[in-house]
Amino acid sequence: MSAKILDGKAVSQRIKTELKAEVEKLKQTGIKPALAVVIVGDDPASKIYVRNKKLACEFCGIKSLEFALPAETTQKELLALIERLNNDNTISGILCQLPLPEGLDEEAVINAISPAKDVDAFHPSNVGKIMIGNFDFLPCTPAGVMELIAESGIDVSGKKCVVVGRSNIVGKPMSMLLLHKNGTVTICHSRTKDLAKECREADILVAAVGVPELIRGDCVKEGAVVIDVGMNRLENKKLVGDVAFSEAAEKAAAITPVPGGVGPMTIAMLMKNTVKAAVLNSTGKN
Ligand code: NDP
Repeated sequence: MSAKILDGKAVSQRIKTELKAEVEKLKQTGIKPALAVVIVGDDPASKIYVRNKKLACEFCGIKSLEFALPAETTQKELLALIERLNNDNTISGILCQLPLPEGLDEEAVINAISPAKDVDAFHPSNVGKIMIGNFDFLPCTPAGVMELIAESGIDVSGKKCVVVGRSNIVGKPMSMLLLHKNGTVTICHSRTKDLAKECREADILVAAVGVPELIRGDCVKEGAVVIDVGMNRLENKKLVGDVAFSEAAEKAAAITPVPGGVGPMTIAMLMKNTVKAAVLNSTGKN
């Protein structure tokens, strides 16, 4: 079988182009979306993500403000900045790039961001809303995956979906979004007894593990849609996913590449959330 490549770069470009037009219209009504990105320390991967987010903002016409703090920043200083951004009416969305340097409490920072400006949708209040299915913001990576699944042409309803990984930022919300679309969802993790067997059942397989090429060809059912969230930098600097791409592509009906699959979609969804935050905050819904 020759798999359809789910081109996240192209789909994200389409979404960003639509957003650009929406932002132009909003500006005429006085709504100016603005994203504040907080980065602490000098993690090289985080710097690249922040730069890409800034470029996407520029493309969409969203104002982006970067707050780069030194690694020695204290919890108190970081929380004070978040508080200032929460109270700044010109800021629509706030994102604090994770991971934070050792000694800083990520959970406290996530909790400090106003749910109305929480464009990552990590705040417990937004997580709860996602669980209930009545949400303002969807978490960016799982939302991007749903767009790519839609792109594959498969209807999730009634399909067997297997999500490998149960992190709060990807695996768990991913499972919930598939459930909302009436998928029959299995969540696998490091204690799953026979991972390959579980994966082989999947009509839709989402890998969000962080282990290079863990999902081999023998884990993929013939005709499945395979979504690879993983972004793993090898020692030789090559970026690979959690799925052994060429083996899986021989069996899958559709598959995402790494890079160029889920990564760009995550950023497009962040832009979408920022525009939504600007609208919601301007109408006083939040
Ligand atoms: P975490 O490390 O938080 O979670 C990894 C999950 O994988 C855990 O639930 C863990 O299980 C499970 N796991 C680990 N090893 C195995 C194994 N051998 N078999 C089965 N399950 C296993 O990672 P994230 O969710 O934050 O990220 C996952 C990947 O996605 C990473 O490569 C990350 O870089 C990438 N990522 C990509 C994004 C994008 O935009 N493309 C955005 C966010 C993340 P347990 O809970 O039992 O420990």
